[in-house]
Amino acid sequence: EYQIHVNRIESNGIVIGAVVLAFDITEAAFAERNRREFTANVSHELKTPLQSIMGSAELMENGLVKSEDMTRFVGHIRTEAGRLVTLIDDIIRLSQLDEGCDMPFENVDLYEVASEVMAGLADIAAAKDIEVALTGKKVYIKSVRRLLTEIIFNLCDNAIKYNKNGGTVEVAISSQENSASITVKDSGIGIPPEHQARIFERFYRVDKSRSKESGGTGLGLSIVKHAVQYLNGKIELQSSLGQGTVIQIIFQQDKSDMVQFS
Ligand code: ADP
Repeated sequence: EYQIHVNRIESNGIVIGAVVLAFDITEAAFAERNRREFTANVSHELKTPLQSIMGSAELMENGLVKSEDMTRFVGHIRTEAGRLVTLIDDIIRLSQLDEGCDMPFENVDLYEVASEVMAGLADIAAAKDIEVALTGKKVYIKSVRRLLTEIIFNLCDNAIKYNKNGGTVEVAISSQENSASITVKDSGIGIPPEHQARIFERFYRVDKSRSKESGGTGLGLSIVKHAVQYLNGKIELQSSLGQGTVIQIIFQQDKSDMVQFS
């Protein structure tokens, strides 16, 4: 996108030439539009649960809630408040990554992080009767533990959320000479091809109501994208509708930084 300025050059009232200036405003305009869109989305996402909380509180205040419904109303307020806390946490995380904050690289065992994250998700997987498995072995890479945890948590959480009852989630750690990778494979609902390029955008959801129902903020994968970028990694996505999704994150490494176990 260009902004064009034309200045005529006149001599004795006669146009004898013109200077054309073309400013490339593509990137600046794009960033500005992104920022505005994000602000509008954040406002909307914050307002929805707040309005719902206010609505319930007002009904209770005006004595319009029967005593037997009280617990349900208070529970609803708590759920919506919890949604706000998750959303605000995600927004803060995303803006920290955006500002290019400085997180030091350390030696991290990719297998250990995956194993910890999966232990933390065991209950919600069991509630949906989903079998979760981890394969591979210890591999130390130069990374940021907190970001790795974030990435693996979001991928596994999605693999459970967008799965079928009785489905499977397979997580595999593998390493090559100059790289290590983590693959998260689910037997879930899959992502329609036309949505695949967009799911890493902020607040983008294939099915808004399903995402909200399962507590999704629509920010998980954009946090993954930014964290992977910070760690100089690469994301690969394969998905087929009704069959499942495979997401692989590959971290290139200096050979000297990697400690592998066989
Ligand atoms: P959300 O909080 O909605 O889960 P994400 O950014 O994590 O937000 O994911 C964006 C959207 O991508 C989700 O709403 C969902 O539609 C889709 N998605 C993500 N992971 C999967 C998956 N493993 N299987 C199917 N759809 C997925």
